[in-house]
Amino acid sequence: MKEQIRHTGICPKCGQEYTGHPALSRTDSETLICPDCGKEIRVFGDSHIEEIADKFGYDLLGKIPMDYKLAALVDKGWIEMMENSYLEAAADAIERKCPVSQDEE
Ligand SMILES: [Zn+2]
Repeated sequence: MKEQIRHTGICPKCGQEYTGHPALSRTDSETLICPDCGKEIRVFGDSHIEEIADKFGYDLLGKIPMDYKLAALVDKGWIEMMENSYLEAAADAIERKCPVSQDEE
């Protein structure tokens, strides 16, 4: 009978705890990461937000994934502590739409 080796660790890429066989990062081909790192799981099915925004003439600022770290920080009232690219992209999009003059900074 083949023995199953279980590995438990913290993924250095996403910071999530995982159990099972790690995957090898494509970035450096050396780092072991969680097996589902970066995998997009559409809990509510495919998004149609681009079509809806286009239909009503709105700009899509971005999409926020379900992120346990974000949820935990929001629950604590520490949203400012979240580091990610999707909120930064939304802030950049807003800044492009509503530029701040040098006098206001
Ligand atoms: Zn990961």
